[in-house]
Amino acid sequence: MEKYDVIIIGGGVVGAAVIDRLAKYELRCLLLEAGSDVAYGSSRANSGIIHAGYDAETGTLKARFNREGNRALWNIARELDVPHIKTGSLVVGTAEQLPMLQKLKARGDLNGVVTEIIGRAEILKKERNVADGIEYALYAQEAGVISPYKLTIGYADRAVTNGAVIKLNSAVTAVFGRRGNFRVHCADGAQYAADTVVNAAGAGAAEINRIAGAEPLTVTYQKGEYYVLDQTERKNISTIIFPLPNEFGKGILAAPTADGNVIYGPTAEPTVNGDTSVDAGGLDKIKKQLAVTYKTPDYRKSIRLYAGLRTICGMDFVIEQSKLKDGFSYLAGICSPGLTSAPAIAEYVVNELVAPFKALVPKKNCVTVMPKHKRLKELTAAEIKERVRADEAWGRVICRCESVTEAEIVAAIRSPLSAVTVDAVKRRVRAGMGRCQGGFCMPRVLEILARETGVPETEITKCGKGTEIVFPRG
Ligand SMILES: Cc1cc2nc3c(=O)[nH]c(=O)nc-3n(C[C@H](O)[C@H](O)[C@H](O)COP(=O)(O)OP(=O)(O)OC[C@H]3O[C@@H](n4cnc5c(N)ncnc54)[C@H](O)[C@@H]3O)c2cc1C
Repeated sequence: MEKYDVIIIGGGVVGAAVIDRLAKYELRCLLLEAGSDVAYGSSRANSGIIHAGYDAETGTLKARFNREGNRALWNIARELDVPHIKTGSLVVGTAEQLPMLQKLKARGDLNGVVTEIIGRAEILKKERNVADGIEYALYAQEAGVISPYKLTIGYADRAVTNGAVIKLNSAVTAVFGRRGNFRVHCADGAQYAADTVVNAAGAGAAEINRIAGAEPLTVTYQKGEYYVLDQTERKNISTIIFPLPNEFGKGILAAPTADGNVIYGPTAEPTVNGDTSVDAGGLDKIKKQLAVTYKTPDYRKSIRLYAGLRTICGMDFVIEQSKLKDGFSYLAGICSPGLTSAPAIAEYVVNELVAPFKALVPKKNCVTVMPKHKRLKELTAAEIKERVRADEAWGRVICRCESVTEAEIVAAIRSPLSAVTVDAVKRRVRAGMGRCQGGFCMPRVLEILARETGVPETEITKCGKGTEIVFPRG
């Protein structure tokens, strides 16, 4: 049986940030992810906002990790070559809502976050398309946007580069033992031993605690639906426009994405069984609420709809060492601002939950800055010529909407955490993320995946077993 110092269950942004952090030490670390790629849960379908941190209740883990995560994330994004933009954000309101904006500012002050209240003239300098009734806004310059799945993939790639092991398609079904002697079983029959276990399973965290005999967790789920707009809409918006937050969360926003699209959403609908369908009622709510804050939504430019799943466990993040299972720790209810908070949560997990059991001896020659991959779109004509001369795959454009070449797809398949499904390729290089949503390039991506991995096309999947794309004859 393979033996590790630490096993992390769940390859969302939090589990990936934890293993990236642990891989810097002389530890044998394993991450087990149920999905066919990392960022398979909330971390693939959210707003991608790097929150400034004025919103969380002062004194909570959310407030602390949001502030610390925000400070760390800009540099981490550069190290990992993850698309990000410091756009700033506006929480907008009418003249009657000014006292609520002031209350939010006061909370930001207590949380150590720099914000200012600005009037309509200043708002229009930052964002010309706020709705006509908007008179005031809370402006936070430290807010921005990041690609949430590319951040998760970036963490995972660096962790693997630094010697950690990540196993995909590995749903954990049982956890036996305790400190120094854990045995973790997966659905495919594989078993692993570890001295300590970290449960970062997101929507599955309560179930993992149950099967491990750790503290029972009561969680609820909430769906957040979105519109994704074509990149041509990017000219209409440059910052993030929030309404005033309410008891359901931060409300329906309009924002650019780090990759150049625009999103409208999310809703906040209670849901069960991990349902992430998008329905007409949710879309109507987006339209109704966005009209209050944003003047120029253009729903004809919508190229995709999606929904993400929030896992809620009380008012705050729950990050604990189990009192019932020595050596087992768990993270639950990591809803918003969990993406922003991930670097700070990882730091806390390593120092407070793993260090008591394992000596943290820094590795020599650890990789910090990952290689930068320029996209075709970012190259000059001379650079393109040079690349095509060295490798003609740079001259074969596979995804026309996003101008993605065969060379970029091959690089994704050969990356440290290899992309072996069509969706994994899409999230690394954006083949299939454009206006036609893969209608043109998917068969070519399939062919390249089959050629590079040696797996027949009939066994290549969109996103794991049961999502095969072509079927054998007969
Ligand atoms: C609609 C929405 C909008 C949001 N917007 C923002 C935002 O703008 N900014 C922000 O900071 N935060 C935002 N968040 C919050 C953020 O997305 C989450 O906090 C973050 O993604 C949580 O990461 P995670 O790693 O804890 O969970 P997840 O990403 O859900 O990862 C958990 C992983 O565990 C795996 N898993 C589950 N069970 C098992 C098992 N038995 N064995 C192995 N693996 C298992 C899952 O497949 C999954 O990949 C938003 C969330 C939602 C839903």
